[in-house]
Amino acid sequence: MSLRFNAISALTSDNTAKAGVADTKVTAIFGENVFTLEKARSFLSNEAYKSLLSSVQGGKKIDRNLAGQIATGIRAWAESKGVTHYTHWFQPLTGTTAEKHDSFFTLKGDGTPIEEFDGGTLIQQEPDASSFPNGGIRATFEARGYTAWDPSSPAFIYELNAGKTLCIPTIFVSYTGESLDYKAPLLKAVEAVSKAAVEVANLFDKSISKVTPTLGWEQEYFVIDEALANARPDLIQAGRTVFGAAPAKGQQLDDHYFGSIPERVYAFMRDFENESYKLGIPLRTRHNEVAPAQFEAAPIFEEINIAVDHNILLMDVMTRVAKRHKLKVLLHEKPFAGINGSGKHNNWSLATDTGINLLAPGKTPKTNLLFLTFFINIIKAVHDHADILRASIASASNDHRLGANEAPPAIISVFVGEYLAQVLNDLEKRVGEKFDEQDEAILKLDLHRSIPELLLDNTDRNRTSPFAFTGNKFEFRAVGSSANCANAMITLNTIMADSLKKFKAEVDELIKGGSKKEIAVMQTLQKYVVESKNVLFEGDGYSFEWEKEAEKRGLPNVKTTPLALDALSTDKAKELFESNGIYTHRELEARHEIELENYLKKVQIEGRVMGDLALNHIIPVAVNYQNTLAQNIKNLKDLGLEEASYSGQLELLNRVSTHINVIYKKIHEMTEARKVANNIENIRTRAIAYDSQVKAQFFDEIRYHVDKLEHLVDNEKWTLPKYREMLLLR
Ligand code: ADP
Ligand code: MG
Repeated sequence: MSLRFNAISALTSDNTAKAGVADTKVTAIFGENVFTLEKARSFLSNEAYKSLLSSVQGGKKIDRNLAGQIATGIRAWAESKGVTHYTHWFQPLTGTTAEKHDSFFTLKGDGTPIEEFDGGTLIQQEPDASSFPNGGIRATFEARGYTAWDPSSPAFIYELNAGKTLCIPTIFVSYTGESLDYKAPLLKAVEAVSKAAVEVANLFDKSISKVTPTLGWEQEYFVIDEALANARPDLIQAGRTVFGAAPAKGQQLDDHYFGSIPERVYAFMRDFENESYKLGIPLRTRHNEVAPAQFEAAPIFEEINIAVDHNILLMDVMTRVAKRHKLKVLLHEKPFAGINGSGKHNNWSLATDTGINLLAPGKTPKTNLLFLTFFINIIKAVHDHADILRASIASASNDHRLGANEAPPAIISVFVGEYLAQVLNDLEKRVGEKFDEQDEAILKLDLHRSIPELLLDNTDRNRTSPFAFTGNKFEFRAVGSSANCANAMITLNTIMADSLKKFKAEVDELIKGGSKKEIAVMQTLQKYVVESKNVLFEGDGYSFEWEKEAEKRGLPNVKTTPLALDALSTDKAKELFESNGIYTHRELEARHEIELENYLKKVQIEGRVMGDLALNHIIPVAVNYQNTLAQNIKNLKDLGLEEASYSGQLELLNRVSTHINVIYKKIHEMTEARKVANNIENIRTRAIAYDSQVKAQFFDEIRYHVDKLEHLVDNEKWTLPKYREMLLLR
């Protein structure tokens, strides 16, 4: 029996569905595996606690001497919960997380066994880092990289089956101090935007001394039966199905969206939610998405650094917990062709230490001006750096989704909603008009008229925009489901920091020239509206008309990753990232190279998987069926039957034979094209070749013929689980 039928019979006899999770009140377990400040207070001396607190809240460096005390406190807490091992937890540029587990246990010089975790081990470690991507920053002979403690993200205990490990969130840098991960640049971008935002906010409100970016992500994913997934080598190796004919019942009935969640999936959700609560991940919503077998998890928003850690942690928790339920989580952006893909909307805003959301429109004109300033600055930032923002979400897997008709296009535009579009229009109309030398000048714009309380309900109508204002935050929807949010968030916060800095300088200049503050702000905002209105788009982002219109406006529309990444090598990008202290030129170049390499490796794997499946799964089965048909025709002919009586079989045989021939030929040609591509020295040219000469030339065509065969060949003989089975069987 083939893997496929084994899997199907295992599924129908599977009873894990009922293996429920005890009902626990969320508040009873929330954060129990996190070394929160509250726990720090009871496990640390006053002095050590204060040092940790000021590091978490004020970004102050922790004294090396106190680090020892903190380490001892963390160990005491961890041991009280049965932990024996610890690890520095970090986010290398592979897109997942990395750990190296060490035991607290050690031997003293005289051989006495002790458990130990000292300050040095808390603060810094040297994992064997030679196997992580570094884009040429570390030559292999100098494979040293360091992980360094990030006190702003709390330590946590990760429970893996029976074992419990203390995880210390860390950044990962090279021996020479260059960042090799996502966290280090994210922390820098947060600092840059905070600093710039405080200065601008102080124009209006002197009491603001800290601004923090917030992030609420919405994680989409597919869940299918594990045995079925295991019988698909493409899902296991490439994360997506490279072949598979569309099922008769897809998503056309719209019966899945917000439909009831299948029992087995529900048990899995409750289980991973409980694990997430223990880790302090504040998950809230839980519902079906548009496609069959697709779901979403979203938390309450948090401070961005924590939110990013929590997302990457959740992806891991989900994947591991799924195993207990004999399910497989698919985080790929497009696991199934023809079926909706998965994204990860990034809801982003800026919050002040005085409790103001800077992207929430206030009620009085003055606070509106504060809001408008931040609102218009982000629009300007997106306008000026749409190309870099596009690059920040580029990946081989997201290429399958962006521009496909259910996902945001590869064109970066901003949706603000009718009311705010009107406000921006009003502002623009008054360009050149002289304002009264009074604060009342602002009142004349009657901004509060345009921003009614209804706003929250009125803005979120357009689901087709990649970057949409949704009432009190922007929602960056083009981020891929498998991505580390940090990549997009580093860029978003950096461009905002840059815009705010320039804005402040322009306003200061006008004030120096004698303008009143409000007038200076207003004039600069007007200028920004004029300069960036091209990026505003309120219509249907999925439409062809928009592509044409965007082209007229000169907006970039780069559809493939290798070309989208070019935005990282422009002088503009270098200047942006360097002047804001995020990446040096070298670091940026290294990132560019790593992204290109990730891309081409992914496409290479897909090409290989296609070859393997075609030659070892598809063609043998099709040839077998071809023989059956041929034998049948021969038998009928031998019996003396008229050709008309077996013309159907003949036609079928013909079609099967044609598809087999084309597949074989194309697989061979694709292998040759890969060889040619592999010999290209320059990595960018090589990545482009993988895209244009391998993927674009062969993937769709080979798939077309394989999927045709799936429809023609005897179902009993087909070895790969079919779409209808993976998507609809539970
Ligand atoms: P949807 O986009 O599915 O309609 P919502 O608009 O209700 O859902 O919220 C989506 C996400 O936005 C949630 O994860 C929520 O935490 C997040 N969110 C709400 N306010 C903010 C904010 N100020 N900053 C960042 N994220 C926010
Ligand atoms: Mg959303």
